[in-house]
Amino acid sequence: MKAPEQVIGDVMEQVIKRNPNEPEFHQAVLEVLESLTPVIERHPEFVETNILHRIVEPERQLIFRVPWVDDNGRVQVNRGFRVQFNSAIGPYKGGLRFHPSVNLGIIKFLGFEQTFKNSLTGLPIGGGKGGSDFDPKGKSDNEIMSFCQSFMTELYRYVGADVDVPAGDIGVGAREVGYLYGQYKRITTLYHGVFTGKGISYGGSLARKEATGYGLLYFLEEMLKDYGQSLKGKTAVISGSGNVAIYAAEKAQQLGALVVAMSDSNGYIYDPDGIKLDTIKQIKEVERKRIKVYREHHPSAQYHEGSKGIWTVKCDLALPCATQNEIDEESARILVANGVMAVGEGANMPSTPEAIKVFQDNKVLFTPAKASNAGGVATSALEMTQNSMRLAWTFEEVDAKLKDIMVRIYRQTSQVAKEYGFEGDLVKGANIAGFLKVADAMMAQGIV
Ligand code: NDP
Repeated sequence: MKAPEQVIGDVMEQVIKRNPNEPEFHQAVLEVLESLTPVIERHPEFVETNILHRIVEPERQLIFRVPWVDDNGRVQVNRGFRVQFNSAIGPYKGGLRFHPSVNLGIIKFLGFEQTFKNSLTGLPIGGGKGGSDFDPKGKSDNEIMSFCQSFMTELYRYVGADVDVPAGDIGVGAREVGYLYGQYKRITTLYHGVFTGKGISYGGSLARKEATGYGLLYFLEEMLKDYGQSLKGKTAVISGSGNVAIYAAEKAQQLGALVVAMSDSNGYIYDPDGIKLDTIKQIKEVERKRIKVYREHHPSAQYHEGSKGIWTVKCDLALPCATQNEIDEESARILVANGVMAVGEGANMPSTPEAIKVFQDNKVLFTPAKASNAGGVATSALEMTQNSMRLAWTFEEVDAKLKDIMVRIYRQTSQVAKEYGFEGDLVKGANIAGFLKVADAMMAQGIV
């Protein structure tokens, strides 16, 4: 039998060879594989049945043309993706991202991560992800609708309430979900829970919009409790000003933290008296403008060009809620030098491996995205449950279930880390706990 390190090395070599030019996918796979050495030692059956080789290969990858007509009557073409990564524990579930940076490698990294995250929620959902290189920024409502209808005209064949259930992600919010769902219903005549993040008037769940951000803070609160700390009086910096960032900021404020900086891809605002979230919501959710407009409402705040600069703001808590690899080693070192005590990942894979090492070496408490941002997809699964039952829970009911789930994920993650000899390392704990359930299900289902 090969040594675990060699098994992992072989799998990684194969992943790089088979998926060239997909650095984000390689990064996500390596992070999980590196955590699995003790698991492989305890479970030789995983090696005998080649589970690792199977788990890194998506079950299905769809790439399609999305033609649409802009407001000037010109035909535009984008590329659409859906990667159905793993259905061992339930129907594929994961969001759609519309952003010019989207390519197959990014969708694969997200789908791979999603598989383990969904496993951690304890709910019966498999992993998938999709999207397009379409840029919704600066487009009219009519152009957005035209694009979404064309996208769904192809995607509808591959999704379904018990098959694959997409949701939002970067660039896909309530407006886009509405257009996508409307087109799905029009083509199939089916009114069922094929999409989550739907509007409340047509089957959406209360508290879904808030869920990823709120869930991050519930997770963080539980972790801080373990170290005799709380959020009260802590200064927080939150990158991004989209869905995750806004509701992370809202819950952080409710729990007594002072949020002093937020950003978008152009720059960041610093308001030492505390960010006024009503203004951010108005600018971002209603007017869809840039964050620098904040200064027009609050002249005492500062605006700085360049989103990376946000990590130079002194804080106790750093919550990256924008995009992948937004905290690199240099930013991590600045955060540490400025005394950061905890980093909570709201975005997917926002810290580079080098940055994570800096945090861990300096005993900064660190919550990996897979565990700490799982509240969004968990609440999406609660939306699916409500749709199937044909009923709607109150905000308080959903929020209470979300909190229970996040507390449970924290406890499970830290417990598994301890059990495998990595006490306090939630990265390892999340990877191992997420992996074990999926691998067990795959084993039980034969060679699939
Ligand atoms: P949104 O589109 O609502 O917001 C994204 C925010 O991040 C915007 O402020 C955007 O700024 C900023 N941003 C995007 N790309 C970059 C970049 N390259 N550099 C700097 N800033 C950037 O997306 P969400 O809030 O939904 O998603 C944010 C992150 O959270 C993503 O990693 C997503 O995968 C993850 N996530 C989301 C979940 C959800 O429920 N929505 C669930 C779990 C994870 P700008 O407007 O200028 O582009």
